[in-house]
Amino acid sequence: MAIITTRGLTRIYNPKTVPVYALRNVELSIEEGEFTSLVGPSGSGKTTLLNLLGGLDTPTSGEVVVDGVSLAQMGDSELIDFRLQHIGFIFQAYNLIPVFTAAENVAFILLLQKRPCQEIDQRVQELLTEVGLGDRLNARPKELSGGQQQRVAVARALASRPRFILADEPTANLDSQSAMKLLDIMEKMNREHRMTFIFSTHDQRVINRARRVIRLVDGAVESDQIQQPEPHLA
Ligand code: ADP
Ligand code: MG
Repeated sequence: MAIITTRGLTRIYNPKTVPVYALRNVELSIEEGEFTSLVGPSGSGKTTLLNLLGGLDTPTSGEVVVDGVSLAQMGDSELIDFRLQHIGFIFQAYNLIPVFTAAENVAFILLLQKRPCQEIDQRVQELLTEVGLGDRLNARPKELSGGQQQRVAVARALASRPRFILADEPTANLDSQSAMKLLDIMEKMNREHRMTFIFSTHDQRVINRARRVIRLVDGAVESDQIQQPEPHLA
């Protein structure tokens, strides 16, 4: 069964003044366990689509259905709760909280969810170890490289065991070696935990690592193809 389905998804910014058709009638179905890349030129609607899939923005028309439930049917507080419990976000600019340590950044959502402290400590340790930062639990973001900060962001996104992860150009600020290492980690999470990933990028090396490539042009799906991903680094 599809985790996410969109029907006639359309987003027009400034409809009453200078309308911008950011997304036009997007019909997509994302299955559990996908490792999918959203590609297309700057301004083609990638960020708009990811924001709509994650319930961070509402469509002008059409709908997003997650696990059979339309996001439009949820009230504001229900939607906030739903995002917290079910969706992991990774942004281009890491968005870590600077005064928190790596461990505290990863623990944050679990604390909001009022999970028991012992469970939180264990989960945080486990996740940061999995992204190769088991020895940097107490480092603050500014003490970490860009690649390391983005790996903290991956650990944070996974903390609440979401249904899927949305990543908007997660490698945009990374050098190519850090970008490939981040992809290795995402791919491992996908393989070992069947975690569903949808990530936007315009980096061809990142596109090559995806199993499905959805191409947007002017807010519409231009192509949607399955490919043999390039093998991960040794
Ligand atoms: P991408 O992420 O592929 O670069 P975006 O989703 O950011 O594309 O943008 C799609 C289109 O919508 C672009 O034409 C962009 O200028 C426009 N757009 C994005 N956000 C806004 C906004 N908040 N207000 C008005 N126009 C916007
Ligand atoms: Mg964008």
